Amino acid sequence: MAVEHMRSWKIGDVTVTRIVELWNFTDHINMTISDAEPEEVIAMEWLHPHYATPDGQQKMNFQGFIVQTPTMNVMLDTCIGNGRDRFFDVFRDLNTSYLEDLGTLGLKREDIDIVLCTHLHFDHVGWNTYWNGTEWAPTFPNARYLFGKTEFAAWEEMRSHDDHGLHDVRHFIDCIDPIMKLGMADLIDTDHRLSTELWVEPSHGHTPGHIHLCIESNGERGVITGDLMHHPIQTALPYRPARFDMDPVAGEATRVGFVNKYRDSGVLVIGAHFADPTAGWIKSEGDGQRFFGVGLEE
Ligand SMILES: [Zn+2]
Repeated sequence: MAVEHMRSWKIGDVTVTRIVELWNFTDHINMTISDAEPEEVIAMEWLHPHYATPDGQQKMNFQGFIVQTPTMNVMLDTCIGNGRDRFFDVFRDLNTSYLEDLGTLGLKREDIDIVLCTHLHFDHVGWNTYWNGTEWAPTFPNARYLFGKTEFAAWEEMRSHDDHGLHDVRHFIDCIDPIMKLGMADLIDTDHRLSTELWVEPSHGHTPGHIHLCIESNGERGVITGDLMHHPIQTALPYRPARFDMDPVAGEATRVGFVNKYRDSGVLVIGAHFADPTAGWIKSEGDGQRFFGVGLEE
């Protein structure tokens, strides 16, 4: 069970709960910032011990979020999923307790009203479906699945070319295509509003139609990043190149704009891949700014 890794935050009447699939996954920092070295991480004291190892490796989680408003249950990004055939061994044939963890909130698969994917990478669409013994079926049978219209079109275009091998799109076959075939998806604009409290905003760069989720309730605000950034180090270094940005120029502009917008704003920033504490604030420090995780000393 990964239930010990679940954690919730309140934003007015909205509750956001993290469900973790992979906890404190460590890797070279150049998997986030392509020209960064461990020495740079070691020198940034505030990253330790939560966001980095003593030898300068990055720590990150693979996790999804249940966003509960007074009127709806939203599953934001659905991780990797169990029993998948994926390119990297570490993501292949997982057997996690994701759905059991959901159950500890008193929620069944049938209780999810909306599934929202910030973008269509394999680690954000996995639990869209599950293996029912016969086929890949919708995990959340009563939900509408929201995919970005721009994002979906861009991937469809990529899939039409031979130069994108099966590795790049195999998650479409088992996580996206079954949902589309059943007519359970809505392709949304990059400024789509889900409810009084929830709406998305565009953050292109990591992928062509990337979006992130904004929350406002009772005068409190929050934002869940998706993959516009992967690690808290990028709040301090938003202008540095991100390895997995499909459009590096747009990705940098998105990160810089995001940091400038939310610095000292009081808006709770929840990082899609941030290790614990996953939520915090971007605040000025010295000539720049950095991430202050909830509960960490300032
Ligand atoms: Zn991701």
